[in-house]
Amino acid sequence: MKRKILLAERQEGICPLDRQRKIYVAGHRGLVGSGLVRRLEKEGFSHILTRTHQELDLTRQKEVEEFFGAERPDYVILAAARVGGIGANSAYPADFIMENLQIQCNVIDAAFKSKVKKLLFLGSSCIYPRECPQPIREESLLCGPLEQTNEAYALAKIAGLRMCSYYNRQYGTDYISVMPCNLYGPGDNFDLESSHVLPALLRKFHEAKVQGNPSVTVWGSGKPLREFMHVDDLAEACLFLMERCQKEEVFNVGTGREISIWDLAQLIGKVTGFSGEICLDNSHPDGTVRKVVDSSRIRALGWEPKIDLEAGIRNTYAWFLECYKKE
Ligand code: GDP
Repeated sequence: MKRKILLAERQEGICPLDRQRKIYVAGHRGLVGSGLVRRLEKEGFSHILTRTHQELDLTRQKEVEEFFGAERPDYVILAAARVGGIGANSAYPADFIMENLQIQCNVIDAAFKSKVKKLLFLGSSCIYPRECPQPIREESLLCGPLEQTNEAYALAKIAGLRMCSYYNRQYGTDYISVMPCNLYGPGDNFDLESSHVLPALLRKFHEAKVQGNPSVTVWGSGKPLREFMHVDDLAEACLFLMERCQKEEVFNVGTGREISIWDLAQLIGKVTGFSGEICLDNSHPDGTVRKVVDSSRIRALGWEPKIDLEAGIRNTYAWFLECYKKE
């Protein structure tokens, strides 16, 4: 009976992951990693491996090789990375390229050496050229210069994605890469200097409301367009892709819905209940003007996002309030 089901699934292009086998989520305390662990638990994975930064420093090759040698995971999701918003990316380019290259090289190569069956590498839509046609297709990779504000991070991620392809080509491994649009959700970084726009604005609006401030400052012109997706949608997409038998190695994952930073600020004002003024501060960069990915490759396999932006922001705000209370 079980064999028959497996055969039927294969014919539909589904290659199920064995829920009893070891799956290592690198970066389980971050926004994406924690979303993935929630999803894997929900899906019945009984052996999810995680290590905190204190337990395992992924920038150290020897430690990573020893970990893989001892634990021998069957599947790996590489969600560990140094990430940050436009401010942090512009201020610390050396750290962004160095740490991300180290983490990727160490994890991908150790996974190969310990014969990991399947690996998923997480990138970002900022790997695509600044001026490429929108919505951005996977084929646009390396067809032009990158956006300056996050070039160091993007270069590291491009190297990681290509490394997965080269291992597949040379060694016949089964590694795929996912390029999500701008993400948000529970577990996000709310530090105003280093965070991305959505958590930064949630915090700014909330604090302005509770402190009774008359205005909130939004960086840049408010005109850039961004595509935001809740991390739970991304986690579902990652597992969906790991269970599909396909030839492609790189997948964009997004909602296909764009919003300007100005409209996002209005929406966050509504969710947080802030009724004061919104001011723009043009001394901060806008970054890329528009960044929306073409997700037709994953859509063609049958996946679609489920969480509407306002509902997702409400869910993230509730999580933020819980943490805020504890602090
Ligand atoms: P990006 O998508 O890589 O550019 O990263 P961000 O999420 O950091 O920024 C997106 C856009 O939001 C940029 O145009 C920023 O200038 C703008 N923005 C407006 N207010 C803020 C803020 O308080 N923090 C951040 N990080 N970005 C902001």
